[in-house]
Amino acid sequence: MTSKKIIAVFGATGSQGGSVARSLLESKKFAVRAVTRNVTQPNALVLQELGAEVVKGDLNDKSLVEAALKDAYGVFLVTNYWEHHSKEEEVCQGKLVADVSKRLGLKHVVFSGLENVKRLTGGKLAVDHFDGKGEVEEYFWSIGVPMTSIHLAAYFENFLTLWKPKKASDGDYYTLALPMGDIPLDGISVADIGAVISRIFDSPEEFLGKAVGLSAEALTVQQYADVLSKILGKDIQDAKVTLEAYEKLGFPEVEEMANMFRFYQMKPFRDVKLTHRLNPEVKSFSQFVSENKEALMGI
Ligand code: NAP
Repeated sequence: MTSKKIIAVFGATGSQGGSVARSLLESKKFAVRAVTRNVTQPNALVLQELGAEVVKGDLNDKSLVEAALKDAYGVFLVTNYWEHHSKEEEVCQGKLVADVSKRLGLKHVVFSGLENVKRLTGGKLAVDHFDGKGEVEEYFWSIGVPMTSIHLAAYFENFLTLWKPKKASDGDYYTLALPMGDIPLDGISVADIGAVISRIFDSPEEFLGKAVGLSAEALTVQQYADVLSKILGKDIQDAKVTLEAYEKLGFPEVEEMANMFRFYQMKPFRDVKLTHRLNPEVKSFSQFVSENKEALMGI
């Protein structure tokens, strides 16, 4: 039996929770309880190998959530909107963890929240995958759970998938189609958030009751394109796509993404200085691209 305080980590087999679980294990200050629906999947086994206790848990199952949080000091909670595309389900999952944390008397919840854009804009703009997290955050505060909410910038990793530069049809160049105009967009490598969150768990007196925005740096689309061009040796340009043109691209949930960019254009606060203080090794976009050059060269 460990004498260390236990932190349960939801999403431990994924990007955010995986980074958090690894950093907590490295810091050796807490015992890590990695929560997953499938305890035999490879990512769970790796965490076990690194010293985590791996337990079965499902955010849709009250008794499993209770078991996952039993005797824990704290919890890192991330909910995955993109698995079900339902604000209601995301809110339900978050509120369940809030209620159980309250009942069991957890001392520190770190929740991966975001802004309730609908409330902030008086109903003018809805971004479901933000709004649900914002509602959960408000619920945590309202029932008095000791909690820190983190508002993450867009992952740099999005440039390896959804935001990959696209080959232009009329020449030997590539474009980034992100409707931000000349407004800087905050970004961070999700792999770097674990160290930040580990520091937040170490400093409850500084962070309990706060929402903190996290970002490695904010660049304009042209600046993102310039970094990519320089490191990959390809001509990558800002497509200068407008929100209206972006909305006509017609991919699934384009409206949700367009509204997210509308909100990003309102420059939600992400604290670059704090992020660097909590993780001095947080990567710049340039370092991120250099480390992922091979994957990006495949564009
Ligand atoms: P991910 O890598 O896809 O991992 C999802 C994790 O969630 C997995 O570990 C999965 O665990 C767990 N999970 C899903 N449903 C669960 C359930 N019912 N019960 C227990 N665990 C469950 O996702 P991620 O990138 O870490 O986080 C996704 C969230 O990040 C989204 O809500 C998104 O809005 C938010 N976000 C994304 C960005 C971005 O730029 N992409 C920026 C800020 C915030 P098992 O499968 O092992 O059970």
